[in-house]
Amino acid sequence: MFGGEEIEITPGMQRYIDRNNEYLAKRAKYIRDVVKKWKFDTIAVHGLYSVEEAIEDYQGAIIEPIFMSASQAYRDSDELAAALAYLIPTWCYSRIANPSTYYYEWALALLEGYGFDGETSCCSTSSGMAAIMTAVQPFLVHTKHHVHEPRNFLATAQCYGGTFQQFNVRLMQERDIECRWVEDPTDIDQWASKIDGNTRFLYGELPSNPQLGFFDVAAVADLAHSHNLPLICDSTVATPALLRPICHGADIVVQSASKTLTASGFGIAGAVIARKDLMTNIDNDDLKKDFALYIKYLPNRDYGPNLHPMQAIMTLNDMRTLRSKMDLLSRNTMKVAEFLQGHPQVESVGYLGLPHHPLHELASKYMWLVDAEHDEQYGKPVNRYGHLMSFCVKGGAKPARKFFDGLQRIWRATDLGRIKSVATIPAISTHQQQGEEGRRLAHVPPNMVRLCVGAEHPDDIIADLDQALHKIKSRRAVGASKPAPVS
Ligand SMILES: *Cc1c(COP(=O)(O)O)cnc(C)c1O
Repeated sequence: MFGGEEIEITPGMQRYIDRNNEYLAKRAKYIRDVVKKWKFDTIAVHGLYSVEEAIEDYQGAIIEPIFMSASQAYRDSDELAAALAYLIPTWCYSRIANPSTYYYEWALALLEGYGFDGETSCCSTSSGMAAIMTAVQPFLVHTKHHVHEPRNFLATAQCYGGTFQQFNVRLMQERDIECRWVEDPTDIDQWASKIDGNTRFLYGELPSNPQLGFFDVAAVADLAHSHNLPLICDSTVATPALLRPICHGADIVVQSASKTLTASGFGIAGAVIARKDLMTNIDNDDLKKDFALYIKYLPNRDYGPNLHPMQAIMTLNDMRTLRSKMDLLSRNTMKVAEFLQGHPQVESVGYLGLPHHPLHELASKYMWLVDAEHDEQYGKPVNRYGHLMSFCVKGGAKPARKFFDGLQRIWRATDLGRIKSVATIPAISTHQQQGEEGRRLAHVPPNMVRLCVGAEHPDDIIADLDQALHKIKSRRAVGASKPAPVS
């Protein structure tokens, strides 16, 4: 059993276990015979919450109820004992589990596992950073029972600023766990050259925020597995509507559900989704067998980075239209990228959808609008590249800030994945804390603007960008004819 503690099973407990095993078998059959046969949209809309379950257990509520209760009561001591020993599915206490987060977890497990012929499971977390922390920590434990055991892991240098801080400061500086940055993740030899006997996992963000770094997931997964190591991917920017790393060999996916999955912007949420029976050199059967359940029941029980049930249902509600949303947002972004590409005030445009982008071909291998071939509108596979793009304003940091300050409709915020267009300057926001050297490593120049295109009509976004870009030029021209300012 979980955690390895043996307990005596009374006949009363056994009855609960039998009853719950029956329920689990029924659920597995429902997933296998019904849910796994649905298209992506149907899974996103229904998840594991069925009409039958709603009517039997939840007074017919069409939307998954929000269980704002800290804990669960039991019929008798046998049920309590069986539940707290994790012998039957339970939610017992909301730090460990909750019926609302349960539906959120299942929806994400099924969506990330769409098209994968193995099983996936999910553990919800309070944020994307908590997802990353709880995904990597179990691989960084001491295994040889001595304090100075060297441990390392590999990670793509192009990653979210918070991830850089977590790995660089919290793990490397504060805990002496070495993060070996992979500067060019498209170079498989670079990955390979950094692995040794003390490596615990490989970690990659794709596409990366904000630089849109990318790598060959299948090749890196193969490399990891050849060393008996897991590959962990941050797939926040793609969402399962465009890319599902587990289908290409990744073992674990982390999601900042605060972003596109909660496009409405109602709050912060995260998730760890893992395949069952993953590869690792850590000798722990529970961890290998069902990683998401393991972290949920043991480490996360003890650390407590749990998701609030209210937020779980809000995010779940936003996820129902994920596929069509990602299609629309990707198409809008493509239009905006094409406009910026031709603009005289713009030095360069980074969008994976642009054919000249150095990673366009690689991204095109992996980023597909899920089920486009079953869509009446398309009827064939269609590449989509998401709604994150970046561009560099000509002339350096100053004009970039002028342009930024001139935006009228696009929101200035360190945010992405919204239904509303949002822009930021990473060097002074998300990537400020890591310093110049860290930004160089992560390819974040001071004149880079990160733009996340929303669902407004693209013409209106383009008009806003155009007027703000125009301001740089006009102010400069005016300034040139004026006497130099005194200070
Ligand atoms: C925002 C973000 C995170 C962190 O997620 P939070 O929910 O803000 O904690 C991790 N990875 C990527 C790619 C992100 O964009």
